[in-house]
Amino acid sequence: MIDNFQHKGLRKRLVDGLRLRGIRDERVLEAIGKVPRHLFMESSFVRFAYKDQAFPIGAGQTISQPYTVAIQTQLLEVHPNDKVLEIGTGSGYQAAILLEMGADVYTIERQKELFIRTQKLLPKLGYQPHFFLGDGYKGLPTYGPFDKILVTAGAPFIPEDLKVQLKVGGLMVIPVGSYERQRMFVVRRVSETKFENSVHGDFIFVPLLPGIENQNKE
Ligand code: SAH
Repeated sequence: MIDNFQHKGLRKRLVDGLRLRGIRDERVLEAIGKVPRHLFMESSFVRFAYKDQAFPIGAGQTISQPYTVAIQTQLLEVHPNDKVLEIGTGSGYQAAILLEMGADVYTIERQKELFIRTQKLLPKLGYQPHFFLGDGYKGLPTYGPFDKILVTAGAPFIPEDLKVQLKVGGLMVIPVGSYERQRMFVVRRVSETKFENSVHGDFIFVPLLPGIENQNKE
């Protein structure tokens, strides 16, 4: 678990690049400058860790591109002590960014292999979210409501179950669209019954897949 001066230098360059691409939230940039992304990747990809690209993490999944992580986190308007639900734990990198910003993170993964691996890795790096193996479409009704919800896989629609787990005044960032392309939505809960959506550009995510129970029934 080495994080040396070379890694730190590469991270600084990554942060400079993200700033040039328009990321404005200094707290997001600071977190990206701190989290050792190379330690979240399989060793064969380590030398690519600080390029602004997505990479495979096993189980057919990817660690999101740093720019995408930065945009999603910026749109999430994270404040210290925010209770944040993340859908799609994956490598744990996004969860680490949120924790670095002082959030209390609840994260759900549907693939057991990734759930087990990341549950072991993150505490070793000093990051301690609450881990759940389950169906992100359903969220965590017994642990909600949440200040923020972040969906890190492409969803075919905005799940109603997640909307109702937002606090009034809270917001959800979720890429919505087809398998090939999604638009980044911010869904704000402005009252008990009222939600307002805004759209923030096109992205490509791995798909939000049906939950584990549904999968067994197919
Ligand atoms: N946040 C991750 C990105 C992982 S990619 C990171 O920082 O590395 C998206 C993840 O969502 C994958 O790990 C995938 O297995 C998971 N996923 C897909 N559908 C899901 C669902 N219904 N519930 C929970 N996780 C899901």
